[in-house]
Amino acid sequence: MKKRKEFLKLIADCKKGKVDLVITKSVTRFARNTVEGLQTVRQLKNLGIGIYFEKENVNTLNMDNEMLLTFFFTQAQAECESLSGNVKWGHRKNFQDGKVYYHYDSFLGYRKGEDGQPVIDEEQAKIVRRIYSQYLMGYSVRKICTGLEGDGIRTARGTSEWHDSTVQGILRNEKYIGDAILQKTYVADLFNHQTKKNMGELPKYYVHDCHPAIIDRATFQKVQEEIARRAGKRKTSSRAKTELGKYSSKYALSEILICGECGSPYRRQTYMPKGEKIYVWRCLNRMENGKRICKNSPTFKEDALHNAIVVAMNEMFSQQAARDVLRESITAVLAAAQPEMSLPAVKSKLAALEARYKDLLDLVIADSARYEDFEDEFRTTNEKMAGLRSLQTKLELEQPSASEPDRRMEQIASTIEQTDASITDYDDIRTRQLISTIKVLDKETLLIRFKDGMEITQHIEK
Ligand SMILES: [Zn+2]
Repeated sequence: MKKRKEFLKLIADCKKGKVDLVITKSVTRFARNTVEGLQTVRQLKNLGIGIYFEKENVNTLNMDNEMLLTFFFTQAQAECESLSGNVKWGHRKNFQDGKVYYHYDSFLGYRKGEDGQPVIDEEQAKIVRRIYSQYLMGYSVRKICTGLEGDGIRTARGTSEWHDSTVQGILRNEKYIGDAILQKTYVADLFNHQTKKNMGELPKYYVHDCHPAIIDRATFQKVQEEIARRAGKRKTSSRAKTELGKYSSKYALSEILICGECGSPYRRQTYMPKGEKIYVWRCLNRMENGKRICKNSPTFKEDALHNAIVVAMNEMFSQQAARDVLRESITAVLAAAQPEMSLPAVKSKLAALEARYKDLLDLVIADSARYEDFEDEFRTTNEKMAGLRSLQTKLELEQPSASEPDRRMEQIASTIEQTDASITDYDDIRTRQLISTIKVLDKETLLIRFKDGMEITQHIEK
């Protein structure tokens, strides 16, 4: 706060004319946030005072509006990226304390302990275990529901009726193996690192071992495989192994996963080394032509690929959110600073001039005034109109390309909303919606390009 006082005093001194040039260490030290920074720079610029940023070696007096915006945007974006870098997978344990939210009234198996952390409710845990074991015994979800209803067992919400979706939700809920979806806080203000609680507007992170488990990991895994198996059984009645075209419409990855070495698409293969099915992805060229043409392209286990994509999606969402905040701020400053530059403003000025020009013409034509008396005004009006017309053309041409990124951001935003914000499972549909290509860089690295243009280099675990 002391810093803040000094900042305000500096601005006051500038206004009094006591200051010629402000020298500051770096743009991140200068103001509390992007908007304040930009506004101050503008304000001082109008007084003829420049700000010199030592670290970046720039003087704001020598920059036009466009350069200033680019400068601030780049600075803020760099900071935003390094911040979100800190939120990487490896550091997720740091987020555990007090930041995982449990909705006990709709969450069977746990209650709030004395220390605020969840503890297992043994009575409810029995129901959860029963659901898992019955499912593995081959019960259908419907049969599990009727069994529970028959025994008078109530749901977490206390109702006696069990819906399929409730049981399906329990079978897929990672909380039962001690994991949780982290309700990440996000950086609302890039300059003072002020964070805001994520009230569901942002995606969440996946956290391991943050509370006691009711179901062991092996059982959970078997259930997930069984869910996939049952789903697969329904869908894949006719499948021709040799027809790659069929595969390509079936799996999102066969359309977007590309070999970095030879450019060929990747294809899914099934192995049964020990009677157990393993799915892997390999370069098609290498599958068909061996190592002659594509020497080093790696083979990936499908699970590892899916996990890497989920991690990258979460990363993309968090960067996206930070960028949106930034975009809003900058748009607000732009709109406030240059209203005369906008297309509607140009149009209305032009209309006013045209009306005046027409009035003058009427006067001259009606012989009520002499052309000579208005010669100057005719000329200047004409010049102004010509200038505005070319500006109008320019703005109109710029319009579609300027709104294009916005449109794409909107699309992405609506996609995020539709995905219900909890990205913990791989999903082919979401992958098709969000990702344009995935390039295999080497056996540990993927380059994931999202449809909004963002690229993430993603490490892939073996
Ligand atoms: Zn290849």
